[in-house]
Amino acid sequence: MPRDEREPVAAVAPAARAPLRAVGAARGADPVSPSGALLSPPRIRAALTGWGGGARVPVTVARVASVEQLRAAVADAGGMTMIARGMGRSYGDAALLTEGLVLDATGMRWVAPDPVGGVVRAGAGVTLGQLLEALAPAGWVLPVVPGTQHVTVGGAIACDIHGKNHGSAGTFGANVQELELLTASGELLTLTRERDGEALAATIGGMGLTGVIVSATIRLRRLASPWLAVDIDRVRRLDDALAVLDCPGASHRVAWLDLLGRDLVRGVVTRADQVVGGAAAAGERGGRTTVASRLRIPPRWPDRLLSPGVVAAHNELRFRTSPVRARGRLEQFGAHMFPLDALDAWPRLYGPDGLVQYQLVVPRGAERVLEDVIERLRRSEVPCYLAVLKDFGAANDAPLSFPIQGWTLALDVPGAAPGLDRLLDAFDELVAAAGGRVYLAKDRRVRADALAAMYPRLERWRAIRDRLDPDRRWCSDLAARTGLVEPVR
Ligand SMILES: Cc1cc2nc3c(=O)[nH]c(=O)nc-3n(C[C@H](O)[C@H](O)[C@H](O)COP(=O)(O)OP(=O)(O)OC[C@H]3O[C@@H](n4cnc5c(N)ncnc54)[C@H](O)[C@@H]3O)c2cc1C
Repeated sequence: MPRDEREPVAAVAPAARAPLRAVGAARGADPVSPSGALLSPPRIRAALTGWGGGARVPVTVARVASVEQLRAAVADAGGMTMIARGMGRSYGDAALLTEGLVLDATGMRWVAPDPVGGVVRAGAGVTLGQLLEALAPAGWVLPVVPGTQHVTVGGAIACDIHGKNHGSAGTFGANVQELELLTASGELLTLTRERDGEALAATIGGMGLTGVIVSATIRLRRLASPWLAVDIDRVRRLDDALAVLDCPGASHRVAWLDLLGRDLVRGVVTRADQVVGGAAAAGERGGRTTVASRLRIPPRWPDRLLSPGVVAAHNELRFRTSPVRARGRLEQFGAHMFPLDALDAWPRLYGPDGLVQYQLVVPRGAERVLEDVIERLRRSEVPCYLAVLKDFGAANDAPLSFPIQGWTLALDVPGAAPGLDRLLDAFDELVAAAGGRVYLAKDRRVRADALAAMYPRLERWRAIRDRLDPDRRWCSDLAARTGLVEPVR
């Protein structure tokens, strides 16, 4: 089976130029045939889901550990369409391809740090958690991390992921200087903004549909310490949450919202920055940029244990135990950035139908849409077990990149909730009419017409994608469902 979980990083060797640890994938010689030709990696049949769970889809999986293996696997794919897969942390069907060939890229794990240049070159299968661990001892950190450390470099680029600091750091892709892309014809392209910037832009946020990312060179930031100074504010209205998020100062901003309480909205806003100076030295003892998992939800967890009543009680406790107002509370970078990673396999809490995460963004000035969505959700029979609000800075030039300047709201709801599809279709209309969009990394249900209305640069992306993959060999269930990739006529 393809791995779904972290794997211990093999072979740690000192880097030639600096006291950084190099992460090496365990690489034996690639298997060859008696004639010396490289054999493609073994294929296995498997049934996979997205991170949100739900129905399993039948696929063929080949795990590749080198560019040579990858090229052989692509050459031997025959008539099958293909898609790359990282840690499978996209919630929906972005890394699924029913009856297609899934290229598990998590074997491409190596790291070559260049501390002088403040960059790191990494294989696409390295996870951001592994990178953070390798970089911290030499005082570097990734400029952008999502809400989980268990995503690969390839997945982070293909979804052009964002963190809580989008306003100051942009997306992950915006911090990629160079990447290597293997196309369906077996060509290995090296893309930079100067060298085929169009193909780079189409690959960043391109959901794996331009080819397989093999490696990337990523700009780093200085890590003053693994500790953050966190300001905390409790809020009782959406407007207040937006106002606190908008306060100048701290770079990492996020609001947790309770949508099950008596008020329409209440929540806790945190704004965090790296600790510097004397406080950094004090905090340095024991601080970590990653987080250890403390508990694992077992398979076949009874879904009835998660109910609106139970979550409302949990939310009440969380709200009441948060300070009304606190300033400069010390928190570890890892624990603050990746709170959900403390609980392994948490989507199992939702039972066999899993969860849908609906993440929207609307431009500034369209705050009314956020309120409408929340009001309609509260009136519906769909309970929201987790809601998170963040602010975004300016969009970048990647045509399918999700962030635009404005507000993003992510809602976790049970996949089996009655009336869910109709409700989310109605949200799509509101969001698209306001010039907003939904996030493809989280999606498993948006319709093709809605997608076209949300991503105005879709045709430009399709034209570049067609140049890179004229035979449309790359596809995914997401791409087929939404018409991102139309069948060859
Ligand atoms: C708890 C949690 C919190 C999250 N928080 C955030 C957040 O704050 N911000 C955010 O932006 N996202 C967030 N995400 C979503 C996550 O960051 C993305 O879905 C990410 O792409 C997952 O990486 P992965 O390695 O698991 O990729 P997968 O899920 O395996 O694949 C995702 C996409 O990337 C493509 N892909 C993967 N590897 C390659 C490759 N080598 N070459 C080409 N294409 C490839 C796949 O084809 C697919 O289209 C979160 C997810 C979880 C589970």
